[in-house]
Amino acid sequence: MADHEENSETSSVSSLELSCYSSDFEVLNEHDLQPYQFEPELSDAEVEETPDRDDFSESLDRLMSTNWCQCANCAGMGSIRECRCCQEIPEMESLTVSTGVGCITDHPGFRSVCLDHYVLETCYHWYNQQYGRAIQDANERYRCVAYRMLVQWVWKWLGRDIRVTLPACAVARIREQFPSADGQYVGYRDPE
Ligand SMILES: [Zn+2]
Ligand SMILES: [Zn+2]
Repeated sequence: MADHEENSETSSVSSLELSCYSSDFEVLNEHDLQPYQFEPELSDAEVEETPDRDDFSESLDRLMSTNWCQCANCAGMGSIRECRCCQEIPEMESLTVSTGVGCITDHPGFRSVCLDHYVLETCYHWYNQQYGRAIQDANERYRCVAYRMLVQWVWKWLGRDIRVTLPACAVARIREQFPSADGQYVGYRDPE
């Protein structure tokens, strides 16, 4: 479904999910990142299960507004799964509460880990040296590494089958800092 991935991105603030299995740093190019790569796999039984009407209505509400955002920094997203706020993620909520900020993007660690291009460039060179994946565009490099660094910072370590979704606020902030020249970013794909 590679072609689907190419066509799936229409929003400049679409969020990404990042893979964090043990060899995840091999995936440096943002275009290589696979949506849901970090999400727990659904069993067949779960996939076939029909969501009840309340869940469906709630999901639609998420797409139609940003009422789900509790940090005031999340933008409207193009798919239900992208509509996630940092305050809905326990690990991020804990970090914000402990430092007295309302959003993960306001945490002093976020700027140091995800927005400092010296840090990101250094990490990128390490990854590139390790895995030989070069990314020519500087902002693309920074975005790719910033997502990875965010995951490492917040979750410390994720195993092969443990996946996470990054919140809309964090993805938007990283893209604001390191914008794509053509405004195109890789976003989620719908479940298949
Ligand atoms: Zn939010
Ligand atoms: Zn937030």
